[in-house]
Amino acid sequence: MSNKLNHRAKKSLGQNFLQDPNICRRIVDAIDPKSEDYIIEIGPGQGAITKFIYEGQPARYTVLEMDDDLIVHLGEEYPQLNIIHTDALKFEWESLNNDELCKIAGNLPYNVGSKLIWDIVSKVKTLERAVFMVQHEVAQRLTAEPGNKSYGGLTAWVRNFAKTRYLFKVPPTVFRPQPKVDSAVVLFKPLTVEEMPDNPEALARLIKMLFQKRRKQLSTILKKQWTPEMEAWFQREKVSPKARPENLTPSQFRGLSKFI
Ligand code: SAM
Repeated sequence: MSNKLNHRAKKSLGQNFLQDPNICRRIVDAIDPKSEDYIIEIGPGQGAITKFIYEGQPARYTVLEMDDDLIVHLGEEYPQLNIIHTDALKFEWESLNNDELCKIAGNLPYNVGSKLIWDIVSKVKTLERAVFMVQHEVAQRLTAEPGNKSYGGLTAWVRNFAKTRYLFKVPPTVFRPQPKVDSAVVLFKPLTVEEMPDNPEALARLIKMLFQKRRKQLSTILKKQWTPEMEAWFQREKVSPKARPENLTPSQFRGLSKFI
């Protein structure tokens, strides 16, 4: 599929370009850009969202784009834009921590959305808010409550770093080429540093260990790690050892990770 830029959408880069200015505006409204802001956009593509953010003239605006062809166009169209030609998966998110507060946005490629969100919420300590469009099903996972079938490792991890809100659903018809599934926009507001886990590595290990066996009871999965202290933790938290991983709240994952 090509368009007015004569650009052929690359499937390997998850390129589904937004065509509907109303949806773009709603995404930008959720980012709430101010003139003093530092905005970072992942995968600006042909500039559907970029155009509206750029118009608001934020103090700093950086984009991360992997596609060589689109980089040239973006540079011509938006001369003030700081364009970083990179794979966002390899970007050193911690490097932003030496800088001012930032807002991060993007209509993320489907194949890398969850991984990018996993990294960004946990690594960027200067994040003010983030707005991402992802597959509808991923949006459900990011915003699910314990016990829900969408509640999983991604939910437990992300919600130890940020509050999430499902903003709105986006149908395939507003993209070119059209994806096969619905998309949705999610807002992320970081927790305070005190509310975040002190040992993210232990939390990640626990979450992965538990959700690899999500149908099993917690006491069965944790048999090798079981100690009287852990038993006491279950009693204090009023969680049955027979509960399954999906029954723990995000902060209970954090509490339990102290024993791992
Ligand atoms: N923001 C545009 C829009 O809404 O129309 C494009 C969105 S498109 C779903 C995803 C964009 O991310 C494409 O421009 C693609 O080239 C870029 N992209 C894909 N993988 C990437 C990666 N690993 N790092 C940076 N950009 C990537």
